[in-house]
Amino acid sequence: MAKIINIIKGAKDILPCEVEQWHKLEKNALDIFGLYGYKEIRTPIFEATELFARGVGDTTDIVNKEMYTFEKSERLLTLRPENTAGVVRSFIENGMFRLPAPVKLWYKGPMFRYERPQAGRQRQFHQVGVEMFGIKEPAADAEVILLAVEYLKSLGLNDLQVEINSIGCPQCREEYKRKIKDVLKPELDNLCEDCKTRYEKNPLRLLDCKNESCKRIFEKPGIYDVINSDYICQDCKEHYEKLKSYLNDSDISYKENKLLVRGLDYYNRTVFEIKSNCLGAQNAVCGGGRYDNLVKNLGGEDTPAVGWAMGMERLNSLTEKIEPEKLKAYVVCEYPQEALKLTQEIRGYGFSAEFDLSGKKFVKQLEKAAKKAQYAVILGDDELKNNKVSVKNLETSCQITVNRNELKSALTQ
Ligand code: ATP
Ligand code: MG
Repeated sequence: MAKIINIIKGAKDILPCEVEQWHKLEKNALDIFGLYGYKEIRTPIFEATELFARGVGDTTDIVNKEMYTFEKSERLLTLRPENTAGVVRSFIENGMFRLPAPVKLWYKGPMFRYERPQAGRQRQFHQVGVEMFGIKEPAADAEVILLAVEYLKSLGLNDLQVEINSIGCPQCREEYKRKIKDVLKPELDNLCEDCKTRYEKNPLRLLDCKNESCKRIFEKPGIYDVINSDYICQDCKEHYEKLKSYLNDSDISYKENKLLVRGLDYYNRTVFEIKSNCLGAQNAVCGGGRYDNLVKNLGGEDTPAVGWAMGMERLNSLTEKIEPEKLKAYVVCEYPQEALKLTQEIRGYGFSAEFDLSGKKFVKQLEKAAKKAQYAVILGDDELKNNKVSVKNLETSCQITVNRNELKSALTQ
């Protein structure tokens, strides 16, 4: 036998028995994001490597360790590890800053990160996300958080924790970074290797470390006090306070988390995550925030923006499994030509239907119908002679014989 070729490590097939759950995620996104005025955008799954290096930031884990990059015709290309950079590129390239603000875009699709595969973490995974461009006021931050919560509710997920924080603006953050570096200096040798690099390149990211021994260091009294100190400037504070008042008014329960800094470089002011207690170590379903400088940094007009992304595999593992639907009808008839005609007629009513394509006997066909369909539509010699069909409800075993022109209504009873 020929050697089997296996799927790539960290990738997963979405099988027919799972796909209806995915349809639900996608349909609810289309419906609910539409209610908030969002339009879908579909960008390519590969982009110039430079877009991510500049857009996501070259001190991030994504750019440093996780990108799938390859060369083609002397250009470096990368499979997208996230979709904000691609959406921003398209926003700029297609002159969307000329549209009336806010421009609201949503997307869904596969992302690629070279990470260690484990529960809730794949190398090809899927995200659904939203981006709102053109509004600097905190009402925009509140609305995107509200949208995330509404979407999760539509999937039956009510019991999730929203965590928010403000990481200030590049100006007020500088002073904070310096303080963090000063207070952690004596502990430098005790931090993990990643944190040692972060200490030099991006000290704020230290707080994001998942390593338990680093977390314990950050909880030491003297260090904890510095991390928890109020450092954001007056404007950033006002923005944050207003966001909280909008959230209070909208009944969303949230928790403030000073250690929430998010892994991407482009955020400023508001950052947030939505977490579930049922997901183990990989407990974040949604991550997002404000990124007022990204459009400008990627060469566009100065445009404030805010958005989030959710991991669709993690959403699926939290939502109830949907059983694949059975066929509406299976035509049982020993004359293929007649069977085909009748099956087409049923499909024409908008019902799913199949018939036996391999010439099996009547009883075998009936057995197949019981496995695959809600109704068996039987066309035997008697029925053919009298221009009738028999309809058997395969759940109740109740069978009726009707005129051909009554078949449609018989299939809805
Ligand atoms: P994590 O801390 O879990 O690595 P992240 O901060 O890297 O997440 P984001 O870049 O904010 O994640 O992506 C948003 C969401 O996408 C995450 O909250 C998570 O649900 C999902 N996600 C991110 N990476 C993966 C992955 N490798 N496999 C599956 N889902 C992922
Ligand atoms: Mg990550």
